[in-house]
Amino acid sequence: MTDIAENLQRVRQRIAEACAAAGRDPATVRLLAVSKTFGIDAILAAQAAGQHEFGENYVQEALAKQAALGARSAALCWHYIGPIQSNKTRDIAEHFAWVHGVDRLKIAERLSAQRPSSLAPLNVCVQVNISGETSKSGCTPQEVPALCAAVARLPQLKLRGLMAVPAPAGDHEDPRMPFHALHELFTALRQEHHEADTLSAGMSDDLEAAIMEGSTLVRIGTAIFGSRPRKLDGVP
Ligand SMILES: *Cc1c(COP(=O)(O)O)cnc(C)c1O
Repeated sequence: MTDIAENLQRVRQRIAEACAAAGRDPATVRLLAVSKTFGIDAILAAQAAGQHEFGENYVQEALAKQAALGARSAALCWHYIGPIQSNKTRDIAEHFAWVHGVDRLKIAERLSAQRPSSLAPLNVCVQVNISGETSKSGCTPQEVPALCAAVARLPQLKLRGLMAVPAPAGDHEDPRMPFHALHELFTALRQEHHEADTLSAGMSDDLEAAIMEGSTLVRIGTAIFGSRPRKLDGVP
């Protein structure tokens, strides 16, 4: 078995154990493999091990990989999880099935207008800055209802739920705490939007805490592909 296949198996096991601890069906948590900074060999190794959903942060990098994969790219489900600049919305609308970082109306409107009518509506998770960090992208919790209502009305978008990257819990804090407020926001959203079925939360270091607090989609990079070259981290 390749390292990637072994890592994937370990991550699936962690998800299964977290679901057991939370009394949840493991089928309610999907695994997104975050392949940013890794090449198509890594993606193909993960695919051979049964992984079909991939997350990318940088538009140009993702498009280059899709082109290199050629026809094999169509068998995969691509999620855009990075920050969204206005001048990148067309590429995102044309080349991804999901987008997780929508945090303002203008971006949502552009994505809907630019989504080709030949494709199914783009699946959208609205990003919320749940920890109130000034440096993070994401709308405020107060903005969630109006932004989600707008996304739900746009013809070429499909509201799927919320996404967040909460600040990690402090050393003496409950690791679930950062995800708790997010879970409450998601539960409230579902009262208004029954179609919202996705809470995109949890990464390599905190997937257990996220699953305990209702995450339905974990975004996992390092635990599957290994550590990333530091210099690429955070480059838009
Ligand atoms: C890079 C990234 C991940 C994956 O993080 P790991 O800690 O490597 O699992 C998840 N979500 C977002 C938004 C990311 O940018």
